Amino acid sequence: MYEGVVGMTDGGPRFRRDPGEIAAIMDLRARRSIDHVTALAWGRTARLCPVCGYRGMFSPVKHKPEIWCPSCDSRPRHRLLKLWLDRDMVLPEGARVLHFAAEPWVRGWFEDRGAEYETADINDLFDLKIDITAMDLPDAGYDMVMSNHVLEHVDDKAALAEMFRILRPGGQAVITVPMIEGWDRTHEDPSLKTEAELRLHYGDPSHLRFYGRDVRDRIRTAGFALHEYVALEPDVSTHALHRGERIFVGRKPAMEGGRKPAAEGGLKPAGEGATDG
Ligand SMILES: [Zn+2]
Repeated sequence: MYEGVVGMTDGGPRFRRDPGEIAAIMDLRARRSIDHVTALAWGRTARLCPVCGYRGMFSPVKHKPEIWCPSCDSRPRHRLLKLWLDRDMVLPEGARVLHFAAEPWVRGWFEDRGAEYETADINDLFDLKIDITAMDLPDAGYDMVMSNHVLEHVDDKAALAEMFRILRPGGQAVITVPMIEGWDRTHEDPSLKTEAELRLHYGDPSHLRFYGRDVRDRIRTAGFALHEYVALEPDVSTHALHRGERIFVGRKPAMEGGRKPAAEGGLKPAGEGATDG
């Protein structure tokens, strides 16, 4: 018997197939799918990488075609970050920037603009070995803290509170997470424990949740005013971005009558679908 058939409930409808037919269909569809992915894998349309300037076909990542820049290893979220940096980000002079799980190309971008740029994570590969949920850093020392695809791995309430704490008034937290815009609520179930369960529910066994659109509430609850930068056309097609992918930019309020906000007049919501909060 074909092993892919785990079971059949009793009293099912008459139109269902017997295990032998199911095995044949599974085999046919698997082969068609492999042919399709093979055809897609080399890419169909030349794209432009805003990180490195490469123009050409992008490589697949697993089943997803046209994702990876074969010249600099950028993926869609990195290319979106580069577009945001180039177009919409404003830094105060001599800004201090802390970047968790940083991609190598980002350092040069900030240092070319006179920023004091440091990378951080819980391993030894970065400038600072610190835990984003309990940073051994003083209050209000940075103008920007970046965490791209980090919050889904950790206690995000603690991490957002720490990001808020280490920022100067007017400073910015730059946040990206895997999220489903169609979900009201984040899917987070502490009873999921095994690698298979975590992979099934969150897509990755090292993730603790899959965000819904309430990720915005989590960022605001930490005290930030929220802005968003959205992947729209024609950028999506030109640079092989994920449609509707967002960068969340939380700004720590400026002190009353105090220091000028880090991004005063500089940070603007971009394009359709961007919101202020
Ligand atoms: Zn590239």
